[in-house]
Amino acid sequence: MKWHWYIGRANELLLDLDSDKALWYAAQRLRRNLRRGFLKVEKDGVRLYRSLQAGHYHLFITMQREMPPIERAVWELYLGSDMKRAQYNIMRTLRGLRAADLIIADHAYPGLRAADHICQCDGKHKRRRITRHCPILAELHGVEAGAEYFAISRDAKPRTARLRLPVGGPIPISTILKS
Ligand SMILES: [Zn+2]
Repeated sequence: MKWHWYIGRANELLLDLDSDKALWYAAQRLRRNLRRGFLKVEKDGVRLYRSLQAGHYHLFITMQREMPPIERAVWELYLGSDMKRAQYNIMRTLRGLRAADLIIADHAYPGLRAADHICQCDGKHKRRRITRHCPILAELHGVEAGAEYFAISRDAKPRTARLRLPVGGPIPISTILKS
């Protein structure tokens, strides 16, 4: 398996869209911002690919101007890119990591610029088994390779409509832990 690493450049937005709905939403917001002139995109600067995961897309946007990493992350969030990915991009940027904004594709995307790196790990870069040993990840992120910044949250539906937290005063941490 050859993984192709695309690292977002200062004039690029890299979007990971996890459904057709997300794609529709991104296209709609993109259209509106192109019309209003908030985003100026290079000719042929928008390219869409199917990602490895069924129903997911990678959207690459090349802009006419450069933006600092946080501004790009905000645009990616705003355009509906995977929220956890964008949150992690921001955390990595704040920690001074280069290559905060990444798309790792399972093949070279045709018509796109060359990938920045290629690795041959035998699975997706999610599990520690892979993230601990990937040479590219180690080179790019060093000790922060595979670092987690938030608890993985599968938010449960509320069991009761009643809000259990006391309103109008300090909330003991023990109450939050039990809620
Ligand atoms: Zn790898």
